[in-house]
Amino acid sequence: MASVINDSCVKCMSCVSVCPVGAMHDADTQLVIDPDTCIDCGVCIAECPQSAITTEDEADEKWVKFNAEKASECPAAEA
Ligand code: SF4
Ligand code: SF4
Repeated sequence: MASVINDSCVKCMSCVSVCPVGAMHDADTQLVIDPDTCIDCGVCIAECPQSAITTEDEADEKWVKFNAEKASECPAAEA
């Protein structure tokens, strides 16, 4: 199970700095998490000042799909 970013993200890039596997991708207006890369460590959830990152269980299905789709299309985010 992966963590998921919603549209509260303001692209502060704090989560990019702490993710041990580089799972964040830059989807233009916000970051998203690649569910195939995320190891569900949870570190980014505590790091986000916007509370934009949740577990997949807590996320709206819309954002689960958005993260998976955009992560496959968009470049890896750079801190
Ligand atoms: S839960 Fe861990 S591995 Fe997954 S995106 Fe967040 S920091 Fe990266
Ligand atoms: S820490 Fe939160 S607001 Fe900052 S880039 Fe990551 S998801 Fe977006």
